[in-house]
Amino acid sequence: MTACLFCSIAAGEVSASFVHQDELVIAFRDINPQAPTHILVVPREHIVSAAELSAVQDPVWARLLHVSQQLAAAEGIVESGYRIVTNVGRDAGQSVSHLHLHLLGGRAMSWPPG
Ligand code: 5GP
Ligand code: ZN
Repeated sequence: MTACLFCSIAAGEVSASFVHQDELVIAFRDINPQAPTHILVVPREHIVSAAELSAVQDPVWARLLHVSQQLAAAEGIVESGYRIVTNVGRDAGQSVSHLHLHLLGGRAMSWPPG
């Protein structure tokens, strides 16, 4: 068992409700959804946050966005709209130190975020 929750999910050691898996990226439903659609899109590689990304990981970042786009279509939230969020560090409230995009949709959201 690895120490990182999302590495453990990627390795199949912790169960999750997967909606996508490929060689670079996995996606699964958030255990505590904040909207009707709340999916976490996660690189298989352990990257702490968006602050740790380097140019060699550009393909990973691009895949995260494209998978989010495809999942939004699959969830039927393209027309109504959706939000893609990644929290970085303490002030943003990042609670899992493995990069992930939140794909949120299915309800109207306010701005600015809390
Ligand atoms: P963060 O706070 O780091 O931006 O987001 C972490 C997210 O991971 C939270 O929305 C939280 O609900 C979700 N989460 C935490 N533990 C688990 C888990 O074991 N399974 C799943 N599917 N989501 C989790
Ligand atoms: Zn990890």
